[in-house]
Amino acid sequence: MSEARPPQSNNFDSWLDAYAERAHTLSVSEVRALFAVVSRPEVVSLAGGMPYVAALPKDLIAKAYESMMARKGDLAIQYGGGQGDAELREQLRDVMALEGIHASPDDVVVTTGSQHALDLVAGLFLDEGDVVLAEGPSYVGAIGIFRHYQAHIEHVYTDNEGISPEALQEAISKMKAQGRRIKFLYLVPNFANPSGVTLAAKRRPQIIEICKREHILVLEDNPYGLLYFDKPVPDALRSLDDNVIYLGSFSKILAPGFRVGYVLAPPALREKIVLAQESALLCPSSFSQMLISEYLNIADWRKQVDTFRGVYRERRDAALDALAEYLPNLQTTRPDGGFYLWVTLPEGIDSKAMLPLAVKELVAYTPGTAFFGDGTGHQHLRICYSFPTPENLNVGIKRLATVINRQTELLETFGKKAK
Ligand code: PMP
Repeated sequence: MSEARPPQSNNFDSWLDAYAERAHTLSVSEVRALFAVVSRPEVVSLAGGMPYVAALPKDLIAKAYESMMARKGDLAIQYGGGQGDAELREQLRDVMALEGIHASPDDVVVTTGSQHALDLVAGLFLDEGDVVLAEGPSYVGAIGIFRHYQAHIEHVYTDNEGISPEALQEAISKMKAQGRRIKFLYLVPNFANPSGVTLAAKRRPQIIEICKREHILVLEDNPYGLLYFDKPVPDALRSLDDNVIYLGSFSKILAPGFRVGYVLAPPALREKIVLAQESALLCPSSFSQMLISEYLNIADWRKQVDTFRGVYRERRDAALDALAEYLPNLQTTRPDGGFYLWVTLPEGIDSKAMLPLAVKELVAYTPGTAFFGDGTGHQHLRICYSFPTPENLNVGIKRLATVINRQTELLETFGKKAK
């Protein structure tokens, strides 16, 4: 008789008892779960937040590569410092200056995308049960990280001008009355993911003032700020207060495949972030950093960002036009930049339950529930207009309208019968 086979190493369930407590917080995100479906060519995906990298001059990237290898090839394929490449950190001074930030390169840490910066900061601050205050709705990737560190996410009321200072004060008082420790306020002030909303200029100093008074750190995540359509965004929160931790990224203004983001932090904190980064990764990719640095040297990158702005503006308009044509009564935000708009469905329609019906109609979106840490958001969905062509946006939104209208009719019939 053959011996009993040992458990297969890829049978994760047999290790369920052995997982760390926090491993149980890891589950397939609603955005990730959609990828397999939406990559079918016949489906118009309004789901994933992908930049339209086809608009990038690949020949210039190739040129930057040649020039980088000639100038510093051995360094580019070697380990680098835990804080990131000095030349790139110097260049980041100009990038951040566009949003009113006067930074010293010494206070910048380059990271593997801003996602890793979020993880590093969360790891430094969050113990189980600590509170993170966040917009409602908030970025799904940040929610995932905060959950992983077993934090409590307290959403703060957010309207078309961003997070409400009054609601922020109320949330702080409520959490303190419950004896909870608030660690930081996380926000995406410009063209937020997922709402597309921008924090009004007048609210910015108010938010800073409240957090200063209450001794709450502000974590400002700003990957979209340079992608405005008509006028630049108000100056960054970091320009108002040096104690703000500011996150930036090349993913949306250049390309996400390089995986280069950055953090600007007060000196003591910056040192901790470098230590955390060294512990996790040793260093960010020298190759990606030096390639981007050379691209910034040889290309007219500001013009390239202008091109992106034009592409995304045309797509925002196409999405809004299609919504006005096919779903004229639906409430949506009107983003002044970035990738996303936020839809409020008629009462009684559940975006999560509706998704399989939409996919059957060959259109996908992200349900609103992905963007709340408290299980709410069913009445909302996110449309990402950055990747589909204007024509496909029209087709996709027409399909979405078919599904929503059918659901509305069903609800009305059901409602009438119930009376
Ligand atoms: N923050 C926000 C608000 C985002 O939308 C994203 C990407 N979708 C990230 C951070 C992470 O971006 P990256 O790691 O590519 O810099």
